[in-house]
Parts: sequence; C-alpha cells; structure tokens
Amino acid sequence: MRTQVIVVGAGPTGLMLAHELTLAGISVVVLEKQRERGTQSRAGGLQPRTAEVLDLRGLLDPLLDGAQPHDPVGGHFAMLPVELDCRPWNTRHPHPVRLPQARLEAHLERLLTSRGVPVLRGHAVSDVEQDEHGVRAGNIHGSYLVACDGAHSTVRSLLGVDFPGRAGRMSAVAADLTLASVSEAVPTTRGHFSRYPRTAGGFFSILHPLDDGLYRMLFGKLSGDGPGREAPVTAGEVGEALRAVYGPKTELAELRAASRFSDAARQVGRYRENRVLFAGDAAHIHMPIGGQGVNLGVQDAVNLGWKLAATVHGWAPAGLLDSYHDERHPVAARVLRHTRAQEVLMNPALDEDAGAVRDLMTELLRLPGTNAHVSGMMSGLDLRYPGLGPRLIDYRLTTEDGPVRASDLMHTGQGLLLSLDGKERRPGSHCDRVRHVTAETDEDTQGADALLVRPDGYVAWSSTDAEPLERALARWFG
Ligand SMILES: Cc1cc2nc3c(=O)[nH]c(=O)nc-3n(C[C@H](O)[C@H](O)[C@H](O)COP(=O)(O)OP(=O)(O)OC[C@H]3O[C@@H](n4cnc5c(N)ncnc54)[C@H](O)[C@@H]3O)c2cc1C
Repeated sequence: MRTQVIVVGAGPTGLMLAHELTLAGISVVVLEKQRERGTQSRAGGLQPRTAEVLDLRGLLDPLLDGAQPHDPVGGHFAMLPVELDCRPWNTRHPHPVRLPQARLEAHLERLLTSRGVPVLRGHAVSDVEQDEHGVRAGNIHGSYLVACDGAHSTVRSLLGVDFPGRAGRMSAVAADLTLASVSEAVPTTRGHFSRYPRTAGGFFSILHPLDDGLYRMLFGKLSGDGPGREAPVTAGEVGEALRAVYGPKTELAELRAASRFSDAARQVGRYRENRVLFAGDAAHIHMPIGGQGVNLGVQDAVNLGWKLAATVHGWAPAGLLDSYHDERHPVAARVLRHTRAQEVLMNPALDEDAGAVRDLMTELLRLPGTNAHVSGMMSGLDLRYPGLGPRLIDYRLTTEDGPVRASDLMHTGQGLLLSLDGKERRPGSHCDRVRHVTAETDEDTQGADALLVRPDGYVAWSSTDAEPLERALARWFG
C-alpha cells in the first residue's frame, strides 16, 4: 500500500495531524495498535490556545455541541489557590475548556473516516525503514512518516533515537471510579484545583468529581514507591488509598478505568530524522500537571501539518520543514521546565521548605502582572515563535459576505492575507496557498491595515513591518 504520509498513533496528536494533512490535500494512512479506543480520558479539558486552534479549523463548536464550553474551575499553577486569569490575552476562551480527551479523539477519528482517510486499528507498527526516497512501516510505503505513538514510542526505539532527560521518581495512578459512600472529606462539587490535593496515611491524592457520578482520582505513595508501570491497577489498591486519605467511610463502588503514570521528563533532541518526524508524547513527556500534554500535541500537529504538506507538494521554501523542530522544540522544553517547577512546589516530600516557596508564589500570583505572565504560559496564549508576530486575534470582522470571526477565514487550512483598509492586495502566484480577504473591523488591530497569517494562526507579516509583503510571502509560501 502507498500513501504520501504515514501517521503512527491515533491519539490526539496523530489524529489532528492527519486532519491537517488531509485538509492540505495529502494522502494519509493512520496506523493504530489498539483495536478499540480506550475508555479512559486522560485529559479532561483543553487550554485556551488549543481551543483557539480548534476554532481555526471549525472543530470546537461541533465538539462542544451545547456542552458547557468553559470550565468554571479555571486554570492553575502548581495547584496554588489563585485562579489564572487569561483575560489580558484578548481571547474568546479566557478559561480552560471542559472537553474530555476521548471526545476530541472520537470526533477527529469520525471526521477522518467520513472523509475516506484510513485509520487502521489493530495495526501495531513493529518495523520502520527509511532511505532517501521514502519510508516503510510494515507493508505501507510513504514519502514521510510521523511518529505520534506516545510516550513509549516504538518508532523512536526502532530508529534508535535517544530520549534524554530525567527518569521518573515516582509512580502514581490515574483512576476513574464511582463511590459507594463518601466522607465529608470528598469534594462533591467542582471547584478550583487547589481544593483537591490531600495527603494522609502515607498517600497523596487528588480526587475530584467529573460528570454523571464519576470521579477522577490521582494518587500515589508519598515515599515514591509503587508497583512497576506495567502492573495492572487493582480495585484493592484504589480502595486502600481511598480509605487512607478520605477515611473508612469512603468506599469504592466501581473502578471504571485506571492507568499508571510517572513524573519522568524527557525530550528527543531532534524532531526530525530525515523522513521521520516526532510529535506529541513521542517527542516529549512530563508529569501531567496543569493540563499541557494534549495541548502540546495538537499544536505540534498544527505547526507541522502545513509544512509537511508543502514539502510533499514540492513548493516548500528551503528550511520550512526544519522550522518545525526550531519552533516547537523550545515550546515543549519550556513546558518540561515549568512542570518540574510545579512538581517541586506541590510535593512537600521533595523539600521541607516547599511550603514557604508555595506561600511566596501564591503572593506573586495575586499580582496582576505575574498572573498574566503565568496564565499566558499555561494557556499557550503567550506563545511567539522567533521572527514571527503574535497569534491572530479572533477579531469580529465584516466581509462582503457578512459578519465573520477571523478564525472562520482559516477553516480551509490555507494562509490568510487579510486587508483591513479596503485595499486589494493580491497574494500573486500564491493564491492557492494564501486566501485573500478584505474586511472591516471595529476592534483594535494595533495599527495594522493588513496581516499575513500562516495556516497555524501566527502572523507572518503585518503592514506595520518594514519588510515588503512579497518577501514574507516567499519566505513562508514559496
Ligand atoms: C493521568 C494523566 C492525566 C493527564 N491529564 C492531562 C490533562 O488534563 N491535559 C492535557 O493536556 N494532557 C493530559 N495528559 C497528557 C495527555 O494525555 C497526553 O499528553 C496525550 O495523550 C498525548 O497525545 P499523543 O497523541 O501524543 O499520544 P497518545 O495519546 O499516547 O497516543 C499515542 C497512540 O499511539 C498508539 N501506539 C503506540 N505504539 C504504537 C505502535 N507501535 N503502532 C501503532 N500505534 C501505536 C497508542 O495506542 C496511542 O493510541 C494526562 C496524562 C496522564 C497520564
């Protein structure tokens, strides 16, 4: 079987990447080892920038489908008792969006299958070869392969790619469960994350309600001990932790799903090995604190998708594909650093003075400037790639077809040349890669009369820049 791009792994990263490539007219095969999607939703929500990125493709509204769009819980840093406020970032999503990871994955997979993209389940990739002409995974041949096969990436091992970083120091459990009885220590309503952590009886635990009577419990031994990663999580083990932390009145009814995780922090040194690229957890792992993993993966996919498509189509300017590593590696490296910092703040067992640093950080987060800095970092809204402008703000616009949002103009996955001063600007020979729209807005565009926006939603040129538009077009669109 031949395809242009082989995507290994049907998690959020692989599915989003397949979506982006398909939008750009590239043939894709997704290979997934699991016969069926698992029942556990590791992430319960999306950070604001990821919600914006899904808006850029018109994916968010159908996904929420009337569900409560904003999680009243708000964002947090290290579970400190201060809500992160994203309003200074001029976003339509000032709070994390409540959306289980499994629902995002199921929606993307349905969309791909309805468009005829093969998502081959029960297909575990176990050999990969590449040369200067192409890449092969089993009997599937492609021009490129993207490893989106998660933290324990087989592709990484097959190619002998190092995964340097810090090994895990603890083993913890994520369990979705129902309770037969609860003590007053069990939170029964949703609230800010700082309400949830507890330590008692040699365990730490974070227990909070999800929907329909379901609870999510993350727990482990304070001593750091725990069974190996592969050991199945038992109801006995969960029941013991529940009783130890929440008292004997708290009884487990049903253990619906459970898995183990650690606080390992690792990142591959290069996101590209010739015709193989790495994205999502296959490229970087960190302790799941502060809801960053899905967000990194989805944004890796949206950064890579159009660049890889341009390369396969043959019009990519020199260096475009390598700019994926240059832009995305530092973003994940920063997440690895701040999740490690959060872990130190959260874990009194690591240092007896952690409480004093927590108090100081809490004071700092109450200062609007610090809060905005940290909310920008945690939400992904502060992201700026070197040499580029900021993200496209989702302006209210009026075009000749009526009122739209700026994000509505990006659904096709093309670049966007947006004229806001009524002047016709033509993207010239780039017209199939860059859409030109003339519009008006009553919002503050910081003096810009025109913007050139990359398919991933970052401003590549503004009329306030000294550089001529033609040069920016050539740099990004060939
Ligand atoms: C307990 C826990 C809670 C978390 N909470 C959050 C949160 O609140 N917010 C957040 O953003 N993130 C959270 N994360 C992290 C998030 O779940 C991951 O970062 C995310 O799933 C990564 O997506 P991915 O597509 O890169 O990898 P994965 O989701 O791991 O998907 C990889 C896919 O590849 C498949 N695969 C593996 N090997 C092969 C092979 N050889 N051949 C074919 N297919 C293969 C796997 O079956 C899997 O479907 C949490 C993680 C954990 C453990």
